[in-house]
Amino acid sequence: AKLAGRDTIRFHDDAIQSVMEARNETKRDLRLALQRGEFRLVYQLQYDAGRRPLGAEALVRWQHPSRGLVSPAEFIPLAEESGLIVPLGDWVLEQACRQLVAWKQQPASPPLALAVNVSARQFKEPDFVERIERVLDATGADPHRLKLELTESSLIDDFEAGIDKMQRLKALGISFAMDDFGTGYSSLQYLRRLPLDQIKIDQSFVNDMLASSDGLVIVRTIIAMGLALQLEVVAEGVETEAQLKSLIAEGCHAFQGYYFCRPMPVDQLQALLAPAAVN
Ligand code: C2E
Ligand code: CA
Ligand code: CA
Ligand code: CA
Repeated sequence: AKLAGRDTIRFHDDAIQSVMEARNETKRDLRLALQRGEFRLVYQLQYDAGRRPLGAEALVRWQHPSRGLVSPAEFIPLAEESGLIVPLGDWVLEQACRQLVAWKQQPASPPLALAVNVSARQFKEPDFVERIERVLDATGADPHRLKLELTESSLIDDFEAGIDKMQRLKALGISFAMDDFGTGYSSLQYLRRLPLDQIKIDQSFVNDMLASSDGLVIVRTIIAMGLALQLEVVAEGVETEAQLKSLIAEGCHAFQGYYFCRPMPVDQLQALLAPAAVN
């Protein structure tokens, strides 16, 4: 029994060891991936209650040479840990801005707004505002079409510095969404001080909203909070018609989720948005 116990411990140590090694290898691969151009963006549309497209969210994908498509849920946390999220975030922003310019040059395409995810580590960089300015200058993108999605973690630690950065970017015409809304601890008191334009109800709440009466009450409360603050309220993770209908009934403004479409490469998005061919 004693031997078995020791073996069990050794097995655990080995397992932890190999998880650590895999994580470190992924971190090394991530750095190379940026140099090798293995990242790309996909776009998921957002719609209004009349099912008209309002804009899109850019989501990063990693096409790993041997592992295939790696989920951002796996690599974004590692990129944050290693600091690679800063140059990767710059790359995402630049790609998104180039896309905005490309859309503007196509008269047939609708005037889309583009939302870009910003991780806390990226936002907390002292020169975050200058980095954004540099990308806008380099690409010529219209800041009024650009929305940055922050999470509450971007503002903990230094709330005042965060507000200051947001205000400077808002002065350029950029708008802000609070992502994964409802998963943190935000009070109304705290939210009303932020120069936000939009809150995005976290998909976990949308997923639960019709499963129990509590679920519906929570979504109703989140929407009421957003409306009280005069913010646009977006629901993410909308997968069914029933969810859409009840979100509309609760006063939600915009919708994103598999019910409408999955995130897709830009050519597919363009085909979807193009006016139907006349035969
Ligand atoms: P997020 O910002 O909350 O993005 C929404 C996620 O939900 C996306 O996953 C999207 O594909 C997925 N989704 C959309 N509609 C539905 C639906 O109806 N049902 C379900 N189950 N899921 C839906 P994705 O693309 O895997 O991204 C995961 C997370 O990775 C994002 O969550 C975001 O936190 C992070 N991320 C993605 N791209 C970037 C990026 O460019 N920069 C940063 N910093 N983070 C990113
Ligand atoms: Ca997001
Ligand atoms: Ca989200
Ligand atoms: Ca999320």
